[in-house]
Amino acid sequence: MGVSGSGKTTVGSMLAARLGWQFIEGDDLHDPGCVAKMQNGIPLDDHDREPWISRLADVIRGVDAESVDAVLACSALRTTHRDRLRAAGDTRVVYLKADAPVLRRRLKDRSGHFMPASLLTSQMEALEEPVDALAVDAGQAPPAIVATVIDWLGFASRPVRPDGGLANPPLDGEAPDVRRWSVVMGLIDVSLPIREGMPQWPGDPPVRLRRALQLGKGDGVNLTALEMCAHAGTHIDAPLHFIASGADASDVRLDVLVGRAFVVDMAGCPLVDAARLERAGIPHEASRILLRTNNSIRGLLEATTFHDDFVGVSPDGAGWLIGRGIRLVGIDYLSIGPHEGGEETHRMLLQAGIVVVEGLVLAHVAPGAYQVVCLPLRLPGADGAPARVILVSGDMPS
Ligand SMILES: [Zn+2]
Repeated sequence: MGVSGSGKTTVGSMLAARLGWQFIEGDDLHDPGCVAKMQNGIPLDDHDREPWISRLADVIRGVDAESVDAVLACSALRTTHRDRLRAAGDTRVVYLKADAPVLRRRLKDRSGHFMPASLLTSQMEALEEPVDALAVDAGQAPPAIVATVIDWLGFASRPVRPDGGLANPPLDGEAPDVRRWSVVMGLIDVSLPIREGMPQWPGDPPVRLRRALQLGKGDGVNLTALEMCAHAGTHIDAPLHFIASGADASDVRLDVLVGRAFVVDMAGCPLVDAARLERAGIPHEASRILLRTNNSIRGLLEATTFHDDFVGVSPDGAGWLIGRGIRLVGIDYLSIGPHEGGEETHRMLLQAGIVVVEGLVLAHVAPGAYQVVCLPLRLPGADGAPARVILVSGDMPS
């Protein structure tokens, strides 16, 4: 979505080509009367847009019914328009955000399009910016925008060619169906795969996976034995981790582990302190926040060795979280506190009864509102527990 000139057709068709999805040009669904109006420089009103939005919703319904993946380019300037399109099927919204001078320049350079530049002002007025979409700077080169969108859709950690194309087809890998499904349904897995050699806190016992029984050796089944520290990979910290009389990992309340969560953009900050948190625009109603820091941008969780220069929350940051009534806080590396002085952060948060989730894979997740589902193993007596964590954008799948 975006106003005329923001590059919806260029970016949308390129994105569709990269993903092997269908491309649908929303402008093709305007009725001739509206096209004529626009050619004569007469702005469309909501009454004009009404049948068009209905047609677009029908298209989404049709595509959805056939289980076809598609990119639809349309302005969808109003919140009510987007709500109707979202209600028609499983959709994710990408907003190409551009300022008026850039748009004016582009529209002047463009021929063969029915929208004169004079209509731009009315479009800018009709525009209600989305809060729950991926907003991308439309001033960037289309391949860069396409790469960002592909990342956001969950096809992350995949090499992107300089021209924006994927080095591999997007749906390969070990479990293509699951991956495809999870993207289509707006489910994002933010858990780290558990494997030998994954980065762990220095000194922690390493992850061991071994086949105790093997079909190839004449056993009746394959049977894997797993040995790991409770703090390997994506996991929660229980109060018992730092507090001798604290609650253990089986004692965590489910209603804290599941519910509305905000992925907060902390890019560029070397330490998450109170001042940074204050400026981060965290909604007042937020009770669960997941911090997406430079750790994600640097791909630290995907590295094979431990890095001690990761970003963590300072003790005064922990104080800020406690003061704001946060009940769950997650971070994209193996400790909520920084390497130096992280103990105090842990103690403060755990003492306050805040659930700490560490080792979240957020590199492919856009900041914004989601539903989080965090399910740590039920381990009585343990000071932490490995967890499968997913984010759901939009409604839960039916
Ligand atoms: Zn831990």
